[in-house]
Amino acid sequence: MLSESVTQIKGVGEKFAEDLAVINIHTVEDLLNNYPYKYNVFEIKPLSELIHDDKVTIEGRVIHEPSLTYYGKNKSRLSFTLEVEGVAIKAVMFNRAFAKKQIHAGDMITLTGKWDTHRLQITVSSYKTGPAENHAEIQSIYSVKGDVTNYKLKKIIKNALSAYSNDIDEMVPQRYLNAYKLPNRKDALLTIHFPPNRLALKHARRRFIYEEFLLFQLKMQLLRKLKREATQGNAQHYDSEKVKEFVNIFPFTLTEAQNKSLNQLLTDMKSPYRMNRLLQGDVGSGKTAVAAVCLYASITAGKQGALMVPTEILAEQHYQSLTKLFGERAQIVLLTGSVKGKRRREMVEAIKSHNVQIVVGTHALIQDDVYFNDLGLVIVDEQHRFGVNQRRTLRDKGLNPDVLFMTATPIPRTLAITAFGDMDVSVIDEMPVGRKEIETYWIKENALDRVLGFIEKRIMLKEQAYVICPLIEESDKLDIQNAVDLYHQLQEYYPDNIKIGLMHGRLSTDEKDSIMKDFAANRIQILVSTTVVEVGVNVPNATIMVIYDAERFGLSQLHQLRGRVGRGEQQSYCILIADPKGEVGKERMRIMTETTNGFELSEQDLKLRGPGDFFGKKQSGLPDFKVADMVHDYKALETARNDAQEIIEMNMLEQDEEFYKLKQYLENDSFLKEKLD
Ligand code: ADP
Ligand code: MG
Repeated sequence: MLSESVTQIKGVGEKFAEDLAVINIHTVEDLLNNYPYKYNVFEIKPLSELIHDDKVTIEGRVIHEPSLTYYGKNKSRLSFTLEVEGVAIKAVMFNRAFAKKQIHAGDMITLTGKWDTHRLQITVSSYKTGPAENHAEIQSIYSVKGDVTNYKLKKIIKNALSAYSNDIDEMVPQRYLNAYKLPNRKDALLTIHFPPNRLALKHARRRFIYEEFLLFQLKMQLLRKLKREATQGNAQHYDSEKVKEFVNIFPFTLTEAQNKSLNQLLTDMKSPYRMNRLLQGDVGSGKTAVAAVCLYASITAGKQGALMVPTEILAEQHYQSLTKLFGERAQIVLLTGSVKGKRRREMVEAIKSHNVQIVVGTHALIQDDVYFNDLGLVIVDEQHRFGVNQRRTLRDKGLNPDVLFMTATPIPRTLAITAFGDMDVSVIDEMPVGRKEIETYWIKENALDRVLGFIEKRIMLKEQAYVICPLIEESDKLDIQNAVDLYHQLQEYYPDNIKIGLMHGRLSTDEKDSIMKDFAANRIQILVSTTVVEVGVNVPNATIMVIYDAERFGLSQLHQLRGRVGRGEQQSYCILIADPKGEVGKERMRIMTETTNGFELSEQDLKLRGPGDFFGKKQSGLPDFKVADMVHDYKALETARNDAQEIIEMNMLEQDEEFYKLKQYLENDSFLKEKLD
């Protein structure tokens, strides 16, 4: 059985088992699942292509018996001549006297070692007698530690593979192996540890990539199904006619992408299952407009709706735009931390007694004493800013309310499939017509004077600017100091009639509010700020976004910041001040100047950063694939997702003998058990 201890393997004693435990190998299965992290491939090349001092592999016939000389203490040198392509090559081997018995005149031999072009000599590090089968030698390299060496590890893996080969179970149903021409698990496992050639290795890897994706996607699809079934019976019977009317009173027509997303949302709301959907769309793509329609639909079904956002400023903005859109159609309240005392008590009472239909708010929404009468729809904006528990608490304020998450941080398709596999995803990937593209420039610090002059010119045209101050990683305090310094510098630089404001995270809510209001009313022309303005703030008259130290920000964050401008009629500008040292940093700045499409940007970001870093390590929630790479193997990921969807939707796990092993595996999976709690 594969679950047996490694001590059952030939060659593994107590001491070795302890060493293995250090690298988390306890059972036979652990050992077999510990794949090489890389391979050294030595390909036999013609002499003319060999490079001096490189590690090379050559093949030839031994001409003379090797001669062995000893020198120093226990040191030996074995040398012989071989013929390669009609040329005599000298081979030397150090401290391997035993090889003399294995190498004889007339033998075909393959040698790997360091090449010396001038002396036509190879210093051998490894050799193989007999012809090389596929003209390639592939060496597995494992990550090792302490007393566990690559050599020892390979030896016991070989022993384990031969002793336990009959215990290696196939989980992937034969039909998929056939369809994609994948080797079975046993063969693939042997190949991944001991690849006979590159082609076989490629197919073995393909097999494990597919397997990893399939298992993961099955869990996600199963989770989605179980969650849905657990929430049956929440259909919202809204009034389609009224909803249509509502959309018609908008001062604009919805874009095609908005309409498509809206239909998906409304279909979810009408269905007997609870909606669990993510709405993605760039800043300004019109998510809030779509959300408003859904809130209205809920009201026509006789229910209440809640919209939770991460900051007070944002809450207030949403509140104002919703109040404008709804007019007399709904009673809307704004519930934030600043609502206190009697006013709060009255508000909470009105929510409870259903005299209020829509509640917009911050975390204040999820406090214990806030009860809804009949909560039908919960919307969480900038969902990644809330913790799982906060989102859950809001959801639990109703009886299986439909839940919509919104985000303006476009998530690459690849990651959306993986990270939100149990969620449905709608995408608004098109901007309302007539928006002017923001012009983005990247400059070095020495061109600062020009930037400051440019800002002054635009201010004379009655426009406004944000200046985001340098970022110091992991230090809120220093960031604020930076902001204060920059604020003073600019005050000195500009004439008194240009008013400058200062915004950072340490200000009280009231202070922030009043500064934001001054900026919105153009009583302040330049707002110096830390990244606190990143989310949601809407001042259409601001047309310039200057970002200091832009190389320290991620692409998504830069894009968010840039989204603060370009919200009005005038042409807007984003100026990145950066002097990145590395190539990646330069590439980032280049991408920013070239694309304004958030989705494209996020794909690029993912490529630069890798999946683990995209969300930030801690909260990534992304699985650790051993062979598969979500970005590189995207096609396989899609294939596996489609297969998983079919398997779950058609209930194939239950009905098909071929799927028995998969079913067993899923039933015992701890990830699923955890998630379902
Ligand atoms: P988001 O929430 O995605 O950032 P909003 O819904 O706040 O976007 O929309 C941004 C601005 O665009 C708002 O002023 C809104 O009234 C307007 N808007 C939304 N949809 C459209 C549309 N289809 N055509 C024109 N303007 C629109
Ligand atoms: Mg919004």
